[in-house]
Amino acid sequence: MNIETVKCLIIGGGPAGYTAAIYASRANLNPVLYEGPLPGGQLTLTSEVDNYPGYPDGVSGVEMMGDMKRQALRFGADIRNGYLAEADFSVRPFRLKTGDGDSEIHAETVIIATGATAKYLGLPSEEKYKGQGVSACATCDGFFHRKKDVAVVGGGDTACEDATYLAALCRKVYMIVRRNELRASKAMQRRVKHADNIEILWERRVGEVLGDENGVTGLRLIDKAGAETTIDVHGLFVAVGHHPNTEIFKPYIKTDEAGYIVTKGKTTETNVAGVFAAGDVADPRYRQGITAAASGCMAAKDAELFLQQ
Ligand code: NDP
Repeated sequence: MNIETVKCLIIGGGPAGYTAAIYASRANLNPVLYEGPLPGGQLTLTSEVDNYPGYPDGVSGVEMMGDMKRQALRFGADIRNGYLAEADFSVRPFRLKTGDGDSEIHAETVIIATGATAKYLGLPSEEKYKGQGVSACATCDGFFHRKKDVAVVGGGDTACEDATYLAALCRKVYMIVRRNELRASKAMQRRVKHADNIEILWERRVGEVLGDENGVTGLRLIDKAGAETTIDVHGLFVAVGHHPNTEIFKPYIKTDEAGYIVTKGKTTETNVAGVFAAGDVADPRYRQGITAAASGCMAAKDAELFLQQ
């Protein structure tokens, strides 16, 4: 096995990771960054980013993440495809193994920027039709449902954003909301209400995804009183939140009950000295590109200070 010692290992190639890489490179920490299974992070699953300062006309998530990556490369960051499968934070330097099993990285500092991943409903029928009409990414898969009827489950900003995106492509979009109100911001709610081909089905949950050999054909819905109805749809987009990617760190790193890494005060320090967390993996509250990028900067500065001690 190849053993490599690095001053600063950054795990995750989203806005937090790339920003950490920009700052760490400029501070001569010679960072090595593993991008993980989704290079560019969740923003690459978004169509247009309209709220990131510095892009007055908006920008595609893919383009923005490409820009951030190029900026990190310009300062010499070593950005690699691949992921870390094991972490041992009980020894110094910390030891981490790559997913391909070929390398062990010995790191003086680690910045965890592994983000969060979309949640699903947990129904066997949903699992059965994943990739055949069930998706957690409207901008990736909406195209396959042009001029058809689809459903979005969830009532947050993601669900509203997905519903409005799909409304421009599809004939009709049902939003299936488990309560009698949306969690989404008022601006997002307005966009949904202004689209005349979005219908919100309140206080309903998905009991079963119906389908045939060609994929999803409909949904069995259950209302508050337990009454069941079915709707005919060609696709189901699940937008019910995310879970943080912290599994491999859990034996060492303190997380909250939802799995988000707990950081100290206004820093990115975790309970293990020399290990820092940035971006959505440590942020159940704001979860924005700009806040992730800012915390990536903080993590690199925290790592730099730590190495000077
Ligand atoms: P949220 O956690 O905000 O919302 C999840 C939604 O899914 C809620 O309506 C929730 O219902 C519902 N839900 C959860 N579990 C289930 C279930 N099992 N069955 C049915 N419904 C369920 O997640 P989002 O991904 O929407 O947003 C995450 C963060 O990202 C937020 O801070 C949001 O503001 C931000 N965001 C911002 C965007 C923007 O500004 N452009 C775009 C997208 C996201 P309930 O309300 O009853 O809990």
